[in-house]
Amino acid sequence: MVIAIIGGGPAGLNAALVLARAKHKVLLFDNQKPRNAVTGHMHGFITREGIAPAKFRRLAHQELNQFSNVKVYRATVSSATRASERHFLLETKRGKQILADRLLLATGIKEALPAVPGLSQYYGRSLFSCPYCDGYELSNQSLAIITEGGNAVALAATIGQWSRKLHLFTNGRGSLTAADKEMLRLMGVAIHTSPIHALVGENGKLRAIVTASGQRISCTGGFVSTYWMHAGSLAQQLGCRLAEHGGIWQDGHGRTSVAGVYVAGDAMSISPAQAVLAAGDGVRAAITLNQDLVQRRLDRHAASVRRS
Ligand SMILES: Cc1cc2nc3c(=O)[nH]c(=O)nc-3n(C[C@H](O)[C@H](O)[C@H](O)COP(=O)(O)OP(=O)(O)OC[C@H]3O[C@@H](n4cnc5c(N)ncnc54)[C@H](O)[C@@H]3O)c2cc1C
Repeated sequence: MVIAIIGGGPAGLNAALVLARAKHKVLLFDNQKPRNAVTGHMHGFITREGIAPAKFRRLAHQELNQFSNVKVYRATVSSATRASERHFLLETKRGKQILADRLLLATGIKEALPAVPGLSQYYGRSLFSCPYCDGYELSNQSLAIITEGGNAVALAATIGQWSRKLHLFTNGRGSLTAADKEMLRLMGVAIHTSPIHALVGENGKLRAIVTASGQRISCTGGFVSTYWMHAGSLAQQLGCRLAEHGGIWQDGHGRTSVAGVYVAGDAMSISPAQAVLAAGDGVRAAITLNQDLVQRRLDRHAASVRRS
């Protein structure tokens, strides 16, 4: 049984390990553009606290190298279609075609930053998106919360767990209601509604934020609400149903709406997740996939017993 996994982040890597150990032929495709490539440290993954994302992947590949039934392709899968009742056809960007019996989509998500000048120089270094990932290192600092959406109060309440010195920036866009403003005031959060003119700092370390209204606010780090989207169109090409919140719909065990296609990791939810959860999703989808194959064998045996 040939199983193709598309995406070599924590979800795809852990799925590959489980499927290799279940003795399948595993083809792992990865174009090495993970969302967390911008950051130097991955937190909250037990036994791997603070590891560099690149090192995490290196270790995972070392482990997968022990299995001769795993083949890794450093390639972008540009199309995925059902070729026959049994097979899926994958095509890479460079035109390589591969048939697989089962597919596991572990493509993660893509994110776009709000339009703040120079933000990409700080994102992943002193400005982050997930307080559970990076809040601890920013404890008790004067922090910026940059959000253009309607989540300002919830975000400030969460980040308040790590620091009480909070400055909320709506970048001239967020629509704070009077109730929001009152809640923020009660939490002691300073509100800045003018667009952000510049971020000041060096080597990715933020020192201050300058607004279009001319204010300069000292902040040494903070959090940004980013915009998330699918990492590609493979699920749509295959006809997979999308979930209401935007991810690829799955049945709670990693099966998508298309028979033979499974999903794991951030691609399931289009929302900020954690590496360990993605890895766990990969394990769950891999076990589901294998159990579905076991069940198919059992059904065949039962049918032949009934015929005889
Ligand atoms: C700045 C930042 C900091 C973070 N910090 C932490 C942290 O401290 N702790 C933590 O637990 N989590 C952290 N995260 C979140 C964590 O990185 C993700 O939740 C996790 O990586 C998701 O794993 P995944 O396998 O689903 O997707 P990803 O890790 O994004 O991997 C998906 C892979 O699929 C590949 N891919 C996509 N499409 C294709 C295709 N068509 N063909 C081939 N390959 C493809 C991509 O290149 C990528 O390598 C952070 C995220 C960001 C952005």
